[in-house]
Amino acid sequence: MRHVVTDPKRTAAKRQGIGMTSQRTRERLVDQLIALGVQDVRVLDVMRSTPRHLFLDEALAHRAYEDKSLPIGHNQTLSRPYTVARMSELLLASCAAKKVLEIGTGSGYQTSVLAQLVPRLLTMERIEPLLDRARDRLQQMGIHNVVYKHGDGYEGWPAREPFDGIMVTAAPSQVPQALQWQLAEGGCMIIPVGNDDQYLLKITRSGNHFSKQKIEAANFVPLVNGLI
Ligand code: SAH
Repeated sequence: MRHVVTDPKRTAAKRQGIGMTSQRTRERLVDQLIALGVQDVRVLDVMRSTPRHLFLDEALAHRAYEDKSLPIGHNQTLSRPYTVARMSELLLASCAAKKVLEIGTGSGYQTSVLAQLVPRLLTMERIEPLLDRARDRLQQMGIHNVVYKHGDGYEGWPAREPFDGIMVTAAPSQVPQALQWQLAEGGCMIIPVGNDDQYLLKITRSGNHFSKQKIEAANFVPLVNGLI
């Protein structure tokens, strides 16, 4: 039987990154996020320490700290760092985000950032190979407060409701009704809405009333029905 021996020094070096994936490169990205108006220090600290290059194929790793969305296969993209930071700070500022549902795990990058900011995170993805890869990455990073589900985000996760916070990282043309009813009292949802003309929406629940506030223009892949 063959045993695979991993050199701990090499593994640590890969996680920390060198050159275009180094800590200094990450610091520059955080400076850009601050210049774009991101203010929450907790979010900036997590963005500073989270190795985004580990969420990309090696051929793209050198571009990990550009403020751009990048391809992750299956026609999907890893969200732009500004978007990840902005949505995270909006969620933290809008409700007591103790138990949070994320729709659209993708690479797991946004998941890993959120998991370091809230106590309990549940994440759903419709493309199973993406979900499996994201789960492996987070487990390797030692992130264990996340529950994963291969499922359709239009339906939410009825067995686990209510959620203090819901973050959606793909855009439906309208807010999915099932999702907003899974919010807890006082809970909030951050979701991009629209087809060509997308914008980020903040929804807050008060009893049976859902107040909606437009935040800013957005550019996400569409939220799609059905599983792969
Ligand atoms: N936040 C992710 C990027 C998300 S891209 C990251 O940081 O990498 C949007 C993701 O939403 C894609 O992975 C896509 O497959 C997923 N998605 C689209 N429609 C969905 C649905 N109905 N249910 C669950 N996931 C969905």
